[in-house]
Amino acid sequence: MEAGKGSTDLEKEVLNAGLCTSCGACVGICPYIKVVKDRVAVIEPCGITDGKCYDFCPRTLTDISELDRRIFGQERSDSSLGPYISIEMAQAKDSKTRNRGQYGGVVSALTAYAMSKGEIGATVLTKPFNESLMPTSVLVEDSSQVLSCAGSNYIASATLARLNEAMKQQTVSLGIVGMPCQILALRKMQASKHENGSKEVKLAIGLFCTWALSYKSFHEFLKGKINPSQIKRLDIPPPPANKLVVVTEAGTLEFPLDEIREFVKPTCGICFDMTSEFADLSVGMVEGVDDWNTLIVRTPEGKMIIDKAKEDGIIETKPLPEANLSHLREASLLKKKRALDEIVKRTGDKNNLLYLRLSDAELRKLR
Ligand SMILES: Cc1cc2nc3c(=O)[nH]c(=O)nc-3n(C[C@H](O)[C@H](O)[C@H](O)COP(=O)(O)OP(=O)(O)OC[C@H]3O[C@@H](n4cnc5c(N)ncnc54)[C@H](O)[C@@H]3O)c2cc1C
Ligand code: SF4
Ligand code: SF4
Repeated sequence: MEAGKGSTDLEKEVLNAGLCTSCGACVGICPYIKVVKDRVAVIEPCGITDGKCYDFCPRTLTDISELDRRIFGQERSDSSLGPYISIEMAQAKDSKTRNRGQYGGVVSALTAYAMSKGEIGATVLTKPFNESLMPTSVLVEDSSQVLSCAGSNYIASATLARLNEAMKQQTVSLGIVGMPCQILALRKMQASKHENGSKEVKLAIGLFCTWALSYKSFHEFLKGKINPSQIKRLDIPPPPANKLVVVTEAGTLEFPLDEIREFVKPTCGICFDMTSEFADLSVGMVEGVDDWNTLIVRTPEGKMIIDKAKEDGIIETKPLPEANLSHLREASLLKKKRALDEIVKRTGDKNNLLYLRLSDAELRKLR
């Protein structure tokens, strides 16, 4: 969205400033940017002054109204949750999918369904645990493999690096599941003037996200307490639990969230999006209701998949109780307000919102 900048600017304005989300959008598109675990680095300046890396990054200038118009054909009227068609609760009908899934298994059920129906040919997913604390992004080409990626790992993963690889192989009709910052980067790729294959992404499922953890510090914290490569499941139950639950082959441990917060990535403090506002479908938990997901349908493409999946008995839905919807709005709005406060704290200038460009009308509603 901002022409005339390249990897040197990315390094200075995003990586060195602690703003990188580790989304992976800049990885794999040039030989000079590398990722190790969740750490991204420019290893040598490339000299290009109008780079894809800078253009795709979710932490370089991002005009929210412009993206709204591109994706949804109009600007948002809902400041807390972004544009949407409907909000319901949903769960996978298949009990195996529900049991393997983080909550209601809706993400896995819909992904496998879209692949089996030929709506998408392959999907970029993130395998949460693979005998390592670090999640791995994978290209799943057969719907029977989708469940092997079920569950949540709260470490940020460079998932879009795998998308960049898939696009080089000219894979057609792709799906992706990602966190809000990853879906934002995907939409910036799709809006970019730079040639890339991201228009082949036909289904973007976004997860809700409050924050993600840095690999190194969290790994250090766990070492000595458990074997991080034995983790089978992580969960952050809704308030008032205020804890992180770690399930390993050797048993279950719980840590107060206050002990964990210091490992949250610094960029999450300036993150404006809790519900993946630019996805086709957004999925999170339903507070106080086990085994169900909150499902936000945002685009006609997303609605089509949901309508068919309901008709074919893949998922079931029911109305989201008003109290849950109201709390979701509050939580999302709180994240935006905190992000704005934190950004202004960092810049010292209420007119310098770092990567965010918001319309005056939106800003008035949030301040
Ligand atoms: C870092 C993080 C923070 C989250 N924070 C919240 C929150 O604050 N509130 C809330 O309601 N929900 C949050 N979620 C989402 C929630 O954990 C579930 O993923 C979501 O509700 C879908 O549930 P499901 O049963 O349909 O998932 P499943 O069917 O189990 O599918 C989960 C999907 O998540 C993907 N995934 C797992 N780990 C990662 C990762 N590190 N990066 C990218 N993709 C990944 C997998 O590819 C899989 O497709 C968070 C998820 C992550 C990864
Ligand atoms: S594109 Fe993603 S991985 Fe690259 S610098 Fe920006 S936030 Fe980090
Ligand atoms: S809080 Fe924002 S920046 Fe951090 S992982 Fe979640 S979506 Fe990405």
